[in-house]
Amino acid sequence: MTLLEASVANFTQATYIISGLLFILALVGLSKHETAKRGNVFGILGMAFALIASIVSLAVGDTRALAWALMIIAMVIGAVIGLWKAAKVEMTGMPELVAQLHSFVGLAAVLVGINAFIENPEAPAFQMHEMWIGVFIGAVTFTGSIVAWGKLAGKIKSAPLTLPGRNWLNLGALIAIIACGIWFADGGGWFPLIALTILSLLLGVHLVAAIGGADMPVVISMLNSYSGWAAAFSGFSLQLPVLIVTGALVGASGAILSYIMCKAMNRNFVSVILGGFGQSDAGAGAGPEGEITELDTTGVADLLKGSTSVIITPGYGMAVSQAQAPVAELVRKLHDHDVEVRFGIHPVAGRLPGHMNVLLAEAHVPYDIVLEMDEINDDFKNTDVVLVIGANDTVNPAAMEQGTPISGMPVLHVWEAGRVVVFKRGMSAGYAGVQNPLFFNENTVMCFGDAKESINAINAAL
Ligand code: NDP
Repeated sequence: MTLLEASVANFTQATYIISGLLFILALVGLSKHETAKRGNVFGILGMAFALIASIVSLAVGDTRALAWALMIIAMVIGAVIGLWKAAKVEMTGMPELVAQLHSFVGLAAVLVGINAFIENPEAPAFQMHEMWIGVFIGAVTFTGSIVAWGKLAGKIKSAPLTLPGRNWLNLGALIAIIACGIWFADGGGWFPLIALTILSLLLGVHLVAAIGGADMPVVISMLNSYSGWAAAFSGFSLQLPVLIVTGALVGASGAILSYIMCKAMNRNFVSVILGGFGQSDAGAGAGPEGEITELDTTGVADLLKGSTSVIITPGYGMAVSQAQAPVAELVRKLHDHDVEVRFGIHPVAGRLPGHMNVLLAEAHVPYDIVLEMDEINDDFKNTDVVLVIGANDTVNPAAMEQGTPISGMPVLHVWEAGRVVVFKRGMSAGYAGVQNPLFFNENTVMCFGDAKESINAINAAL
């Protein structure tokens, strides 16, 4: 080894270690509101160090000019797409973007695995196993993420696809994939590799298509975890320790998040991973009927002035109408009227884990009045008014009955408050397609219209 080669190897390894440490610090930072910004900075630095190490690692060898040229072209294309997407995406489009990004990681893992086989078709059996497992997880992540994107973007219906014998289909596909993998590692060549790739692509479609709208939060965090493991196996194929470390971090944290989401939604973790195994095929049902009471924004302002305690439960509609800044303004005005205001955040409100917290932080709502569902659910009965701003499934008492797609999911007990004001544009159902009996309760009033316009009008009246 020449001095240059040794120096490049040492520099690369040291930089990869720093990068791995920065990724760990990023995760630590992202675990709390207060330190999330710092966590993001660590993540960006970690990625910058990893890129520098990768560029420098190519500084030796006769083909370095070609390798650098290819890497720069790939980086420029990636950076242009990334910047364009980041500039264009609305906050409401973040979940779709996340699903798209997961699909890229999955596709990259498939290509890396196949390329590793092209480069070294005579690799030892354990490397062959790394290749096919990377291709398998990558392919499931790729098509699963595309279906998740379709469901989130409303391109595919969010109701679960319930093919007859769907669990047996999944099991059969899994056994066939493992059999092909063993055959491939045993020197089977292209045929088992192509077969297991196609089967894995189909399995990804079916696993996610079988999951209903209300369970999508778990699917997103699960695909996040899969994309991490796919990247980790690519790291084995490419012999890149930093990719193994980063992939394992993403895979493990995604798995923990999926578990937390399952607990929050009272879902069985294993059942969701296996594409809804053991879940009932309940439909949305006919839905409640009855009289509703409407109240205009001046009436809501009067109601608020006469109250002493208010809880706001935001949902996806607040994100759609971008009402977070007027909502923050409303909080300030109510404080001026000596009204105690707090927020009750459901773990799956919106379309992204932490969606509401991000929006409220962006609008500078103080963290200490933003409470999780478990922290506030017992307080509704002692509260004068609840403002349900663009939330539906997360405040739907039908979840406490049997036979709906949201049955069993814990919800915010808003109906226990003195009065409930629901802000939405019409009588449509929430994301899971289940009608909401809350709207017909005697203590509920509906304030129809775009949430931002309604809250602005209330602020003006206050
Ligand atoms: P929902 O999606 O159940 O309901 C949102 C409500 O907002 C709708 O009823 C809609 O009614 C109303 N709305 C839409 N636009 C506006 C607007 N401009 N102004 C006022 N209201 C508006 O919201 P929730 O947050 O309660 O529930 C989230 C759902 O999404 C859950 O089922 C969850 O499982 C699912 N999900 C969550 C993810 C996550 O990670 N958090 C990811 C994927 C899915 P109308 O049209 O009548 O105005």
